[in-house]
Amino acid sequence: MTSPKSKKSSTPKNELPPGRRDGSNAKPRPRPVRSYSLYSPAEVHEIFRRFSVQRPEPKGELEHVNAFTLLVAVVLSAQATDAGVNKATRALFKVADTPQKMLALGEAKLGDYIRTIGLWRNKAKNVIALSEALIRDHGGEVPDDRDRLVQLPGVGRKTANVVLNMAFGQHTMAVDTHIFRIGNRLGLAPGKTPEQVEQGLLRIIPDEYMHHAHHWLILHGRYICKARKPDCPACVIADICKAEEKTTDVPAPLVEIAPLGTAEAVESD
Ligand code: SF4
Repeated sequence: MTSPKSKKSSTPKNELPPGRRDGSNAKPRPRPVRSYSLYSPAEVHEIFRRFSVQRPEPKGELEHVNAFTLLVAVVLSAQATDAGVNKATRALFKVADTPQKMLALGEAKLGDYIRTIGLWRNKAKNVIALSEALIRDHGGEVPDDRDRLVQLPGVGRKTANVVLNMAFGQHTMAVDTHIFRIGNRLGLAPGKTPEQVEQGLLRIIPDEYMHHAHHWLILHGRYICKARKPDCPACVIADICKAEEKTTDVPAPLVEIAPLGTAEAVESD
């Protein structure tokens, strides 16, 4: 993971660092971890404006038919490709698109549908347990609240953020491996943890772009700013980007990209 570029001291001249404001020799208290962007508000705005021209209506690549099947698909997608999950869930969601039907299907039969997906045994257990919890605690509905979502078996903060964004239109930022890399590589929202990157991005992304920002960043990471070798000549923000690895300052032509038909087998989340 690339570390952010040059850091400026946040301590004004003639001022002692935190923990030593009284001039004593007391051991300084640890500073809170700072997450700051290397980009001005105008640069951030321009980055997302270009993403919005490229993909006016970006879609997630996980197939689903309602909030429940989206939740299940996201749970199944941990350490798996969206294409692999879609292959399994196309048949599964025809027979089980509600918590009640999933429970009626049962863990063993559910396992038959998803055994091509990594960690399928554990995921089958979680899907059955979360279906039970939805019926027991939420009237069979997927809650639109992060605190309640993360109490469901197999549901972490990232999964909850995806569901809140895609099913309920909330301005959340689900930080997967691609977004974590972009936040740090570009110095857009550096952070040691996904949550720090999430908070950094939420702070800098203009409201008008928040609804789609999550998908734009994932697609940019999957297809352009790839982990091993970023494809800088194909990148529309190459002139703005401050990543050390970038190989050109010339941005790719800004044109709309046709939506993807089916998810390709790409780097997993
Ligand atoms: S210029 Fe290269 S490193 Fe920068 S965002 Fe584009 S692909 Fe990534």
